[in-house]
Amino acid sequence: MEPSSADRRRVVVIGGGVAGALIAKSLQFDAHVFLIDPKEYFEIPWASLRAMVEPLMAERSVINHKDYLTNGHIITSRAIKITETEVLTEEGRLIAYDYLVVATGHDDSVPKTRMERLRQYYAENNKIKAAKSILIIGGGPTGVELAGEVATDFPNKKVTLVHSGSRLLQFIGPKASSKTLEWLASKKVEVILDESINLNSVSDGNKVYRLSSGKTVTADCHFLCTGKPTGSSWLKETILKDSLDANGRLMVDENLRVKGWRNIFAIGDITDISEIKQGYLGQKHALVAAKNLKLLMSEGKERKMATYKPGSITAIVSLGRKEAVAQFPLTTVIGRAPGMIKSSDLFVGKTRKKMDLRPDLERN
Ligand SMILES: Cc1cc2nc3c(=O)[nH]c(=O)nc-3n(C[C@H](O)[C@H](O)[C@H](O)COP(=O)(O)OP(=O)(O)OC[C@H]3O[C@@H](n4cnc5c(N)ncnc54)[C@H](O)[C@@H]3O)c2cc1C
Repeated sequence: MEPSSADRRRVVVIGGGVAGALIAKSLQFDAHVFLIDPKEYFEIPWASLRAMVEPLMAERSVINHKDYLTNGHIITSRAIKITETEVLTEEGRLIAYDYLVVATGHDDSVPKTRMERLRQYYAENNKIKAAKSILIIGGGPTGVELAGEVATDFPNKKVTLVHSGSRLLQFIGPKASSKTLEWLASKKVEVILDESINLNSVSDGNKVYRLSSGKTVTADCHFLCTGKPTGSSWLKETILKDSLDANGRLMVDENLRVKGWRNIFAIGDITDISEIKQGYLGQKHALVAAKNLKLLMSEGKERKMATYKPGSITAIVSLGRKEAVAQFPLTTVIGRAPGMIKSSDLFVGKTRKKMDLRPDLERN
């Protein structure tokens, strides 16, 4: 039985990304849920590169928080401080909590409204369509997936990818890196490793980009895909400052509570859990933490809380619409077989269903 409104506790979730959005949705009928996020929408991050070549994808992958959080409070702001009882937002609002969930995975400056975000995708798409040559800066998943999308949809454009590391996709194993390098070469993408670009000297329309070695790359435009910082710098000014590890991640116990705190949980990429940082694992954290919060809110025994076991090393990086490179626990494969798992719909329908939304927009 759901608790009556007067009996419900206040759960504040900071961060409306993959993990935060799911836990907010999961608890909305068990607690007074307050979701604090600087933007009005949740975005499926792994669809963002397809959205740049096919902006219609963003119509499905950029979802207003109010569409799935029908019984919660949405606070469009950035959290800047946490005390033992309240969260302070950038606008100066104080939001009281009984339980707190920190899910600020990565910080990014993206537009506040869904409409502005969609317009941004159309603008990026126009930029790609107008260019004959494109420079991609960064060889992590974002840069590689963008190169794959452009090379697949626009095979006549000259694509150059510059990466400061010695191999692509450093978040997974070297086998995946070398297979990806070969795949990109087969699509005529020029990959330049161990080189960086002084970003202060570049702007779109520059045409000539100077690399650290003095070499130059000519391109009509560029896309910066160097990864987003962990969303934890602000936590250094809060009661959680001593719960951060050396990498700026929140240390959690097996129940996903922040070490040293009984009513504060952390989930998603912001945690120090020793596993590959992936959204599907953040979703698992969200479900374990939601279960534990429901137990605590119904006065259940702490020892009955669910525990989280770190996930496997599986990761799939899409390479255009049909292919992908995948690292599984026992093998690494590239081509159409892993592509069948991810690359056609990029788990967008599946993720929408997890948020209790129809997989396709038309039928909403
Ligand atoms: C190109 C690419 C492809 C990927 N492909 C996959 C894939 O196929 N499968 C998969 O499982 N994972 C994939 N991932 C990884 C996945 O995107 C991340 O693991 C996931 O987004 C982490 O979720 P999160 O909720 O922890 O953080 P995020 O999704 O980063 O969300 C953090 C949220 O917190 C908000 N925030 C930050 N600071 C504050 C603050 N101070 N106050 C309030 N809100 C704040 C942000 O605005 C954001 O909404 C991919 C990543 C990339 C880059």
